[in-house]
Amino acid sequence: MSEIIQPGTVVFAGAGPGAVDLVTLRCRQAVGEAEVIVYAGSLVNPEILQWRQGGCALHDSASLSLPEVIDIMVSAAKGGRKVLRLHTGDASMYGAITEQMNALDAAGIDYQVVPGVSSVFAAAAALKAELTLPGVSQSVILGRRAGRTPVPERESISSLAVHRTTMALFLSVADMDGLVAELLAGGYPPETAVAVVYRATWPDERIVRGTLENISRMVKRAGIGRQAMILVGDVLKRQGELSRLYDPEFSHGYRRGRQDRAEKGGTALLTALPPVEELFGGSVAVYALTAAGCRLAGRLVRDLPGASGFLSRRGAGEVEVPGCTVFPPGEFSRVVEENWERYDGHVFIMAAGIVMRRLSPLLRDKTVDPAVVVGDEKGRFAVSLLSGHIGGANRLARQVARCAGGEAVITTATDVQGLTAFDELAGRLGWSIENPEMIKVFNSLLLARQSIGVSCPPELFQRFFAVDDCLFHCSAGELSAGGEGFQGLVIVDGKPGTVFDQVPVLKIRRPRLVLGIGCRRGASEEEINTAATNALALLGCNISQVCRLASIEVKRDEEGLLAFADSCGCPLVFYDAAQLERVPVPTPSRKVLATVGSPSVCEAAALLAGGGKLLLPKQVCGRVTVAVAAEKDG
Ligand code: SAH
Repeated sequence: MSEIIQPGTVVFAGAGPGAVDLVTLRCRQAVGEAEVIVYAGSLVNPEILQWRQGGCALHDSASLSLPEVIDIMVSAAKGGRKVLRLHTGDASMYGAITEQMNALDAAGIDYQVVPGVSSVFAAAAALKAELTLPGVSQSVILGRRAGRTPVPERESISSLAVHRTTMALFLSVADMDGLVAELLAGGYPPETAVAVVYRATWPDERIVRGTLENISRMVKRAGIGRQAMILVGDVLKRQGELSRLYDPEFSHGYRRGRQDRAEKGGTALLTALPPVEELFGGSVAVYALTAAGCRLAGRLVRDLPGASGFLSRRGAGEVEVPGCTVFPPGEFSRVVEENWERYDGHVFIMAAGIVMRRLSPLLRDKTVDPAVVVGDEKGRFAVSLLSGHIGGANRLARQVARCAGGEAVITTATDVQGLTAFDELAGRLGWSIENPEMIKVFNSLLLARQSIGVSCPPELFQRFFAVDDCLFHCSAGELSAGGEGFQGLVIVDGKPGTVFDQVPVLKIRRPRLVLGIGCRRGASEEEINTAATNALALLGCNISQVCRLASIEVKRDEEGLLAFADSCGCPLVFYDAAQLERVPVPTPSRKVLATVGSPSVCEAAALLAGGGKLLLPKQVCGRVTVAVAAEKDG
């Protein structure tokens, strides 16, 4: 066997999760060759060191600072010795090897990396789990919660959780309450399976299995506060529960109904891209004045759904930027004024001061002003400046940050505290708030963690309110008792004119909905019904809230679609490809464009027929696609 460590060089090796026989043969050989070993004493099993040769110097990095570790490695390598740096698991995950490699580069010392078995796989093995189960999740997010090492906003647990994939979380067990709150806020249902594996593959390994509802308590009871891997997702469900998951009658967040199973051997899924929580859903104007700003604006216009650009001639130069209008210097104020009410959102790539001075005469209040986001020309930050909730600026800021590769700056207190404000829900879901003067009162109640009753259909409560443990479903009886016992009462679609004088009340009215539908030739009424029902369920709604259906002209004779429209008693309108093609949508598809002549059917048709905002982007369910828009002023 050839040498692993050349004299005068360093090898970084993953020493595996703990068990000695989970060290790779290559790592084992390196231990035998090394003349100097620096190892992470807290997690690397010291038994591994028995393979070292006589005279090998040992250093436990647990008691050393980074400069000390580097010092040891550099001077040993410079002295022509073979140096081995042992990390736990695999060194590429939270191994902090980059700063060590940089220092070796600076010192002109060569190094190699040897892979190891990461604790994420040791934990999965301990649970006998497959992390990628067809029909449940096909991706794994490896992540961590912010601790002493910060985590970029766009990677916060709650923003990753919106994907509802399997998640494997390192370094995050110390505050399980906080972690669970973020996972729920991101959208995992409370019954999602979670397992915590403490010291996988060590003799004192312990496994705690539960759901998001009870895992925190169980972990505390087990006294686990460190050295544990947290795995989240229904791939962990045990056989009995899983077969229920696969049962055709069993409707679940990840797979719904039996029709979609008929196709593709039962792997059709209801997929949502992007998730409701992230969708801005309206038209956007992007402005820039400088050359760097114009370049970024061009990128945003290309990548943000529904965006148009407005660039100063001075910054844009003579180059044509697709989707952008160029205005002469000095015309900026006029352009903004003209656009102000035409667009749902405005993104300014320039100094916040310029924006504030231009906008101040235009502002009315947060229930009617459009979203305003300000970004710097390097795309590092996207600041949600105005109308964060109802106007959707927080969501828009997150989308801009994602396109620009930067961070969203969100300052609304509820969001900062990981809570979802009522006016944020209203903004996302197209609800109107009948007494907006109460928004402030209710957000204060939320922040003070007071108990609030919500009177609404149970499925709506389950979908959007149940994650917050200060919100309670208010029954008809409790409502007629005036909401006694609650500090506040939220009434969704209440009877007009009812007076409540015991507690503060927030009155919400939901819009009527328009369904855009696309389907393949021959899709049955039942398939379309399932797709529509499932899509509406994502909004906590059902068919009774739908006032209109819309599709593309070529479907005018599609029997299943006509029968579905008949059965729900809604008018069905058709648009031709040329009309649909002009509507900017979040989920355009080249394949759809090639087949029917418009990049979108369901989203564009819903928007055209509704006139309001898109509430749910394209959902694919077997052979049917569905999108939901709000009816304007309805
Ligand atoms: N590079 C390592 C991770 C280092 S960060 C790897 O690939 O596994 C340290 C974190 O890893 C711990 O906080 C814990 O979350 C996880 N971890 C490391 N060893 C573990 C083990 N044996 N069992 C469970 N988790 C472990």
